[in-house]
Amino acid sequence: MTDKPVLELEGVTKTYRVKQGLFGGVKPLTAVNNVSLSLQKGDVLGLVGESGCGKSTMAKILLGLEQPTAGRVLVDGEEIGAHDRLALARRIQPIFQDPYSSLNPRKSIADVISLPLVVHKIGDHASRMKQVREMLDVVGLPSRVMNSYPSQMSGGQRQRVAIARALIMKPEIVICDEPTSALDVSVQSQILNLLGDLRREFGLTYLFISHNLAVVEHLATRVAVMYLGQIVEETDVASLFDNPRHPYTKALLKSVLTPEPGLGVPDTQLGMAYPNPIAPPPGCHFHPRCPLRGEPCFTKAPRQIPIPGGHVECHLHDPDIEMSDQVHAA
Ligand code: SF4
Repeated sequence: MTDKPVLELEGVTKTYRVKQGLFGGVKPLTAVNNVSLSLQKGDVLGLVGESGCGKSTMAKILLGLEQPTAGRVLVDGEEIGAHDRLALARRIQPIFQDPYSSLNPRKSIADVISLPLVVHKIGDHASRMKQVREMLDVVGLPSRVMNSYPSQMSGGQRQRVAIARALIMKPEIVICDEPTSALDVSVQSQILNLLGDLRREFGLTYLFISHNLAVVEHLATRVAVMYLGQIVEETDVASLFDNPRHPYTKALLKSVLTPEPGLGVPDTQLGMAYPNPIAPPPGCHFHPRCPLRGEPCFTKAPRQIPIPGGHVECHLHDPDIEMSDQVHAA
């Protein structure tokens, strides 16, 4: 397939300047570090990593809410900045983690779902209400909920409303930022199935952000694993689950076998806490937690190595790096 990607990131970096206490001065925090990704129409790219790895900053950049410090984001081959804000919002829509806080509690469901049509001055009141009824049907809600308020609905119903609001503009790309992690485990799979059905029905492309690989496996066609702002492994979903290469990917996969995989931050069993992104470890950023680290990992950053369907950043897969001595944790 040689079609132009619908969404492309080229070397995207986002650095913030963060104040360190009273006398600590200002230090740079690189939330996203030289990330390149490419999504074809219909792809579902699962972006996975622990809390604080830079996933949500990526979402904000893709929604035009943050500007990258370096690199480019291309939508249909054009730089994101070249699209005006409203035109971009027609093409890219978000679905956030907590449907309650993302829905205005004082607005009826009809008002919530039709708001994008009002903002974009599409149709009159009657045609908007017709579209709201159609979207409610698409997301599996009865039209009688139009006059209800978010507080009168369950978490799963509210997320269906959020999905209806995102899709009423008929976007091409949907940025799903942890869309099921605030929901009960039993409701999560219903929402994932719905997102899968809608993707097929409307030919949508998703960037699906999650801390949980098990959630991503349901839906994704490709998976990118993020650690301290960098993509450490990216490949198609079958390769990643059948043959994970990066030690961090392996740890994340083990973590989804914990008894309550839908809840909270995964327990990666890596022993040490997630590092402070203001002071990332030298060499391979993952080395303080890596059970397979060798001498080169302490000082030398791994480069991108091609693997079937994608790439990995780990010295273990670099034919030019000698990793004979494994150095265990002190
Ligand atoms: Fe572990 Fe070294 Fe690979 Fe980093 S480069 S993931 S420390 S083995």
